[in-house]
Amino acid sequence: MRPINEIIIHCTDTPAGRPVTVAEINQWHLARGWSGIGYHRVVHLNGAREAGRPIERIGAHVAGHNTGTVGIVYVGGRSADMTHTADTRTPEQKHALVAEIIALRERFEIGGISGHRDYDKGKACPCFDAHVEYAHLLKGASDFVPLKDVMLARGDHGPAVLAWVQDLAKCRQMTRHPWPVQPTDAFDHTVELVTIWFQKERGIVADGIVGPQTRDEMERALSGKPPMMALAA
Ligand SMILES: [Zn+2]
Repeated sequence: MRPINEIIIHCTDTPAGRPVTVAEINQWHLARGWSGIGYHRVVHLNGAREAGRPIERIGAHVAGHNTGTVGIVYVGGRSADMTHTADTRTPEQKHALVAEIIALRERFEIGGISGHRDYDKGKACPCFDAHVEYAHLLKGASDFVPLKDVMLARGDHGPAVLAWVQDLAKCRQMTRHPWPVQPTDAFDHTVELVTIWFQKERGIVADGIVGPQTRDEMERALSGKPPMMALAA
C-alpha cells in the first residue's frame, strides 16, 4: 500500500439533483487521456459511497498533489441550471462524506484534509471549505505537512521516504533502471543513487535531494508524461 496522509475533496461539477455514475466519470477521465477515473471514492446524491480508482493506486485529481493523497468526489457542485458553482451536497451526501473521512482516518494516518480549490486557486471545486468543515475529524491536524511537500535527503527516515522509494520502484518498471529498489523507509546511499539516476533521466539537477522539482518530475513520470525540460526545449 502506498503511504497516504491527506484527503482531498472534489465535486463532479454537474447540476444539482442529476445522478452521475462511476462509469460516466471513468469515461470523462479516459477522454482526458488518463488511465480511467482519477478519484478513489464517489459519494452519490443518495449518500451511497462507491469505489473509483483502487486506493492503492496513485490518483489523478489534483495536479502536483496526487502523491500521498486520496481523492473523494461528491456528485454535484453546480446549480440546477448550470449557471453557477454551488455547494449542492444533499443531507445524505454530507453524512456520507463524514462517514468516508472517518473510515479513511481509521485505515491511514490521515493528517490533513483539503478541497481541490486549496491547491488550484482558479477552481471553485468542491464549492465549500473542506478544511474548515472537516479538520476537526482528524487527530494531529495542526502539525500536518503533506507528503508531497516533505523535503528528503540522505539520512532521513519515515513514511515519506517509503512513499518516495515506492514511486522510484514503480518508475523503474517503466524504464531500464539497472538496480533493484527494495521497499525501505530509510533514505540510504542506494536510495540517494537511484534518486540521482532518476533526476539525470529526467534532465533536472541531479543532487540526490527530493524537493518540489524532483517530485513534480516523478508525478509526470508516473503518469507517463515526458520530462518538463523536454517541453521547454
Ligand atoms: Zn476537483
